[in-house]
Amino acid sequence: MSRRVLSIALDAPLDTEFDYLWHPRDPDEAEPAVGQFALVPFGRREVVGLVIAVKHDSDVDLARLREVIAMRSQLAPMPQDWIALCRFAADYYQRPLGEVALPCLPKSLRTAKTVALDRALKKLAQPGKPGEPADPAARPALNDEQRLAVDAIADTEGFHTHLLFGVTGSGKTEVYLHTAERVLQKERAAGRPAQVLILVPEINLTPQLETNVRARFPQLNVATLHSQLAEGERLRHWLAAHQGKADIVLGTRLAVLASMPHLKLIVVDEEHDPSYKQQEGLRYSARDLAIWRAHQQQIPVVLGSATPSVESWQHADSGRYRKLPLKQRAVTNAQLPRVGLIDMEVNKAPEGLSPPLVAALRERLARGEQSLLFLNRRGYAPVMHCDACGWISNCRRCTAFMVLHKPERRLRCHHCSLEMRIPVSCPTCGNVDLQPLGRGTQRVEEHVQALFPQARVLRIDADSTRRKGSAQDAFNAVHRGDVDILLGTQMVAKGHDFQRLTLVGVINPDTALFSQDYRAGERLFAQLMQVAGRAGRAAGKDGQAARADVLIQTRYPQHPLYRALIAHDYEGFARGTLEERRAAGLPPFMFQALLRAEAKQLQDALDFLSQAATLLAHQGITINDPVPMTITRVAGVERAQLLLESASRPQLQAFLKPWMRALRDLKSRIRWSLEVDPVDI
Ligand code: ADP
Ligand code: ZN
Ligand code: ZN
Repeated sequence: MSRRVLSIALDAPLDTEFDYLWHPRDPDEAEPAVGQFALVPFGRREVVGLVIAVKHDSDVDLARLREVIAMRSQLAPMPQDWIALCRFAADYYQRPLGEVALPCLPKSLRTAKTVALDRALKKLAQPGKPGEPADPAARPALNDEQRLAVDAIADTEGFHTHLLFGVTGSGKTEVYLHTAERVLQKERAAGRPAQVLILVPEINLTPQLETNVRARFPQLNVATLHSQLAEGERLRHWLAAHQGKADIVLGTRLAVLASMPHLKLIVVDEEHDPSYKQQEGLRYSARDLAIWRAHQQQIPVVLGSATPSVESWQHADSGRYRKLPLKQRAVTNAQLPRVGLIDMEVNKAPEGLSPPLVAALRERLARGEQSLLFLNRRGYAPVMHCDACGWISNCRRCTAFMVLHKPERRLRCHHCSLEMRIPVSCPTCGNVDLQPLGRGTQRVEEHVQALFPQARVLRIDADSTRRKGSAQDAFNAVHRGDVDILLGTQMVAKGHDFQRLTLVGVINPDTALFSQDYRAGERLFAQLMQVAGRAGRAAGKDGQAARADVLIQTRYPQHPLYRALIAHDYEGFARGTLEERRAAGLPPFMFQALLRAEAKQLQDALDFLSQAATLLAHQGITINDPVPMTITRVAGVERAQLLLESASRPQLQAFLKPWMRALRDLKSRIRWSLEVDPVDI
């Protein structure tokens, strides 16, 4: 065999593929194949790229082509439809193919050395030991609603999007597990290999799900894929998926790009969760890609949520998605909590907790039940302040305050992670009596502990769980019953099946009501429904219904969002929100793209965006004026943005392609990036 020209996609910000020469090392060496990885020289580095074409010739003079260093022929080529998925994502999000296909791979696949890869392949080639059969008693019989849902999904032929709309505690997980089992059985009975992909928002916050899946299917190969995994493990799990050995892949958003040659079902749990959107690099929505992938494979996809995104809700209303409701809690006698509002105009709360909430906490303590306090703000106080001269703890690198962290004795900027010791006196006037303003979880913890010295209080937030495994330890303590009052940020709101919890208190959620971000209300509603849903999940003693309470402290008890929340009325909330969005011309009735620019001087960023706005003629697309971002300066860099809107997605897409090319051709020194379907505007 003779030389070939390989067209290779590289992880580089250039919208082109690169040709390399390949020669067989020995006469028997197999010809390279599309989908294989190759180590090639790039500039002065050696990098791994993806072969996307094998040719006999090149448009470039062959004498100028560089040579492939090594093929990764120990690895089966990436399947064609995986490359097609990456190509779609690259096209849709306006990135080069290599920037999609390569960063989502385990690091050790992309290095010059292959020691790790060869070791992992060897380990995978050894036969695994079969697990013990599952304990049949651990499987609850499905209720009618659950069974209807499982049947609807598992009996579907071809592509269909199912919206599993189940209240908190309705047993969505059981539906996923039964459906997965049914689909695997059905396919295998027909002699076809099968794999199931289950996506979750944040795996380290929902370790219960991983445990449940493994316990339910001890004889299946379950692979997990998320960014917290150690590299060796991540590589092994990724390979198991790629080789078709993993029956079930459970992962976070990046798992949507895993190679799974026998994919037959996709589940997206908590489909509304913002963490499905990647916020840097390739800014993709894993939920949207999951739906595209299901369509490509002609298989069912399940979107599960108690509070679906209004986009998904609209699709369900219009009949594009099939709605599968679970209206009841699954555990016998478990009931949805009573949601009450505490009017903070009437109730004074100098330390953040109103008398009715304190009384409710006292009651739980007396009965030996658990309570949860939710405050989505970490630190002790969001800002420090001098009464004498008006000094305030601004970050000198950001348009933001330095947050007071009392236990750590630090001021910290949450945007650029600048840190300093708490000043002993005012930096401007020398006043020694600096005051904390507002409150975060640390301050509430201090107050709760002072109010109830006997109570076992545990705070869970990003600060208290820095050490690896500490979040897991903390949640285990709650599940064991070693905690009376749990206090935390959104970390405690998601997914957990707390069995002893009968009170949820929500402190100061109002700020989101007046946010500039049109999605803030939707996010707040989902978050409050979620956190409320942590309560009242058990059957109670002697089969008695244990009614749980959710108490929300607000200054706006008449606000429609809270009225809907009291009534557990997601549908009403979604309807209202969609009407507002339609009237205001916002997504999902409008399609958007956002161009961001960064520079040392704000004016330079704005000028670049103004220039960008006038580069190409455009029809059916509104290009708004460039504006500074809400938090304009971060780490000394000024940031501005330009919003594009269109009522037609194809029209917007058709404009973006040539526009991106024109933008690249400007070769501006300004750093810029484009986000399609932006979430934070
Ligand atoms: P969701 O994800 O919908 O909030 P979960 O899947 O966490 O709800 O289920 C809530 C609880 O109900 C879990 O403890 C689960 O074991 C239990 N459960 C689920 N289905 C059934 C059923 N059919 N019968 C009894 N208990 C069930
Ligand atoms: Zn800062
Ligand atoms: Zn001062």
